[in-house]
Amino acid sequence: MSDSNILTLPKIIAVSKTFKMDKILPLIEHGHLHFGENKVQESVDKWSEIKNTKPEIKLHMIGKLQTNKVKFAVRLFDYIHSVDSSKLAEKIATEQQKIQRNIKIFIQVNLGNEEQKSGINKNEVNQLIEYCKKLNLNVIGFMCIPPFNEDPHIYFKGMRELKDTFKLNQLSMGMSSDYLKAIDFQSTYLRIGSNIFGART
Ligand SMILES: *Cc1c(COP(=O)(O)O)cnc(C)c1O
Repeated sequence: MSDSNILTLPKIIAVSKTFKMDKILPLIEHGHLHFGENKVQESVDKWSEIKNTKPEIKLHMIGKLQTNKVKFAVRLFDYIHSVDSSKLAEKIATEQQKIQRNIKIFIQVNLGNEEQKSGINKNEVNQLIEYCKKLNLNVIGFMCIPPFNEDPHIYFKGMRELKDTFKLNQLSMGMSSDYLKAIDFQSTYLRIGSNIFGART
């Protein structure tokens, strides 16, 4: 078997949103490297100091990102999972170029075509990816949040198909309630919060 065929285990992103650093530190001390947050200001307050002392920690922005926060996000995060518009892509490209960073990008897809949800529709993916290429963004894969109270299986399957169609390697899918199913469909980044930190209040 060639190296490229060896099964790679999915990475676990410990989603630490709403939890204070005292709850997060035990994981860091244990050597955990990937953490997820969904708000820029909270993340800057919580993580700026420790990221300076431990640059090996990787921070993932998994929430909706407003363009006026991009300037701060590109300084802190190593991955952004929620790119869903050309406007946002453009802003990230501009801001990260100023500080010579190359953030890893997921395109967030709204496979359920839910009105209120973030993410682009499947039929717009091609256009956004082409645009990101033009901007020299480092798009590594797709992210989705399946509709609540529905069997996620069909959405995970759709994501795997997207990944194959666009020949990208990474999938960000699977949360506390459905991560095992996500692994069945080749997820490479699991975003797990409450199963690690307990319920959020
Ligand atoms: C909060 C959050 C998670 C983690 O959810 P849990 O159910 O606590 O594991 C994963 N992904 C996103 C986008 C989130 O906002």
